[in-house]
Amino acid sequence: MALNEQRLTPLVILLLLALLVLTLAGWVLDRASRDASVSEGRQQAEDVIEWKLVTTWPKNFPGLGRGPENFARRVDEMSGGRLRVQVYGGGEIVPPFGVFDAVSQGVAEIGHGAGYYWTGKVPSAVFFTAVPFGFTADEASAWMHYGGGLELWRKAYAPFNLIPMAGGNSGVQMAGWFNKEINSIEDLQGLKMRIPGLGGEVFSRAGGVAVTMPGGELYTSLQTGVIDATEWVGPYNDLAMGLHEVAEYYYYPGWQEPGPVLEFIVNKDAFNALPADLQAIVEGAARAINQDMLDEYTARNNRALTELVEVHGVKLRRLPDDVIIALKQAAREAVEELAASDPMAAEAYASFSEFYEGVKNYHRISEQAYINARDLEPAPGQ
Ligand code: CA
Repeated sequence: MALNEQRLTPLVILLLLALLVLTLAGWVLDRASRDASVSEGRQQAEDVIEWKLVTTWPKNFPGLGRGPENFARRVDEMSGGRLRVQVYGGGEIVPPFGVFDAVSQGVAEIGHGAGYYWTGKVPSAVFFTAVPFGFTADEASAWMHYGGGLELWRKAYAPFNLIPMAGGNSGVQMAGWFNKEINSIEDLQGLKMRIPGLGGEVFSRAGGVAVTMPGGELYTSLQTGVIDATEWVGPYNDLAMGLHEVAEYYYYPGWQEPGPVLEFIVNKDAFNALPADLQAIVEGAARAINQDMLDEYTARNNRALTELVEVHGVKLRRLPDDVIIALKQAAREAVEELAASDPMAAEAYASFSEFYEGVKNYHRISEQAYINARDLEPAPGQ
């Protein structure tokens, strides 16, 4: 027994020493790894990139204005907080129509608006926003993403240090708000209407007087008689704007903007400075918002229309065929003249036209044929 104890004692001491060494080593390693993770966390905090997003819309405005807010939230979530986007409404940092220059010059890293506001600088921008009697929302998105539209758009904005991305769509708009009935093209003569982009040019050719102004000014301008009529978006947005309080007649269809593509414009230097995963997140979030906004309009427009007509007594009217045909003729001339005036517009028009003829041909026997079929009813007595 005594012999055994004598032999065991050094072994026990050795084991205890080994345990002590292991414990110490573990503590040191644990401490080192905690230090590393603290410093990594600090590194991440230092790596948070903050972007300013300026828009042409009133802050938090339903539909149009919510698009950039939703974009900022998605980017924050997808990047785990590494890219933070702060949204500013029109007029907060720059005026609504100052967005293009602000992002071009790097005053803000990203903007949200509509390309046709910048036709004075980029004549071809109308093809990437809305062509009267042109694409519906689906068709426009298809041209952008699978028909070469986006590449041409980026080429058109490249001289301004901007990368455009499709950033929302309202679907077919309404023709607008009037304080008198439109029974013939004569009723448009001398009428002062807020109608931007090529739609405005067409309206002027048809005898009206087109003006452009930001959405936030429409209500007062219509109320005070600065304008006689206005188009804005559709029932969901127009109800929120209160336009039914200052105009009596609500006309359809929105020939001037059948599927307007809104835009995110990103300062090229700011975009290039992002790591590849954040660049993909920005592009992915913009693409998601492009569809999401259309879904919101589709879901909310009919209820708003019903409220406008049934609660507020708005008089809903369809533009007469001869007015539509006259506007269409003027649109054809305006588009062709625009294309002839600028090489980039000519290039965009060529691509647009080819895609337009093809998609129209297919949609005649698909979307259009189906919608007509859906409305067919058996004749009475059958
Ligand atoms: Ca509009």
